[in-house]
Amino acid sequence: MNKKPLCVNPYEGMIIDEYGRAKPCPPYLPSSSDINIYNYFTHPEILELQRAHLEDEELPYQCRVCKTNEEKYGSSLRFSKNIKDKNYKVGDFDDGTILISTSNACNLKCLPCSYSSFPRIKELIEIKVLNKNQDIGLIDISQDKRDKILEIIEQYNFSTVSLLGGEPFYDKVTFQFIEELIQRGLSKKIKLYFTTNATNIKADRVTRIQENFKDFDIDVSIDGVNEVNDYLRYPSRWGQILTGIDILKNCNQQFNIRTAFSNLSLLRYPDLITWALQNDIENLYLCSVDDPEIMNPQRLPLGLSDHLHKKYEMLQNLSVNNTTKMSIEAATGYATNLDESGFAESLGFFKRHDQHRGTDLLTVFPELTPYVR
Ligand code: SF4
Repeated sequence: MNKKPLCVNPYEGMIIDEYGRAKPCPPYLPSSSDINIYNYFTHPEILELQRAHLEDEELPYQCRVCKTNEEKYGSSLRFSKNIKDKNYKVGDFDDGTILISTSNACNLKCLPCSYSSFPRIKELIEIKVLNKNQDIGLIDISQDKRDKILEIIEQYNFSTVSLLGGEPFYDKVTFQFIEELIQRGLSKKIKLYFTTNATNIKADRVTRIQENFKDFDIDVSIDGVNEVNDYLRYPSRWGQILTGIDILKNCNQQFNIRTAFSNLSLLRYPDLITWALQNDIENLYLCSVDDPEIMNPQRLPLGLSDHLHKKYEMLQNLSVNNTTKMSIEAATGYATNLDESGFAESLGFFKRHDQHRGTDLLTVFPELTPYVR
């Protein structure tokens, strides 16, 4: 019997992209280019991954993102998805979480986003951050692939379905797929989860999910308050976000705030925490931006340390729940360990966006003025 902590993702996880390619979790980097929804459960690479994890061997090369993060930061998706008391064997897949990219259709071009929004990829090519050969088409997951995914969810008892978008309230395919889960009779056994940018939330769609799924959890992506969010989640307007949040509240829909925690969001995260608490929003968590690395949260001038110390000090004694407490701790950790070595490169990246979009970094973040030559 296996009693060692091990990563659950090779047994309970699956992530599928718009092309039908499959892997156990977002950081996994497959060696084989042919793993897909039709062969995933018998593919030698996946079965070998399960065996290597069960036998507690050194992490396979495909898990190198977790390995590096564990060495550098002492944390990884593997650590957060560890279990101690399940008896898996090679070939087991059961009762897990399936993540599905239904489309890359999105109405925004968020600054920390580098691949999941079609208009954002187009913009990155226009400002020459990505090269021209990048695939910039609008991609929806096809009907035959959706049918296969429904079959997989049923056969392997996936109990949580997480839809990665595009933006679910903008992209048509996401709600088609939600309807297909309902029509197939699967929804009552499923917890549905997705993230929205809150610019386009529709009450009737929220209600449709609430009435037909076993559970529904929703994250709202917000990276700052007011013009900070507008700058980072371009071209959204703060008023749209407030309207979206009101709709969720009126539908009695529980939601969390999820922040793409970049160097710019770090500058104003305390304001976001304060705003959320004033508006009775309790669950805030953050995902640090590693890609693009240029927006890594620690990439800020060391000269800002004292200024940030004062801002973050005010958060330490707030009465908040555990989720928010952990986010405050993580954010404070980044704020006290700034690394200015790549900041000049980050400034160049923001400047290119300002020129293209007609925005102005220093109007929104005047505290950076002394560091811009
Ligand atoms: S160790 Fe990391 S990359 Fe490997 S399966 Fe687990 S979460 Fe995925």
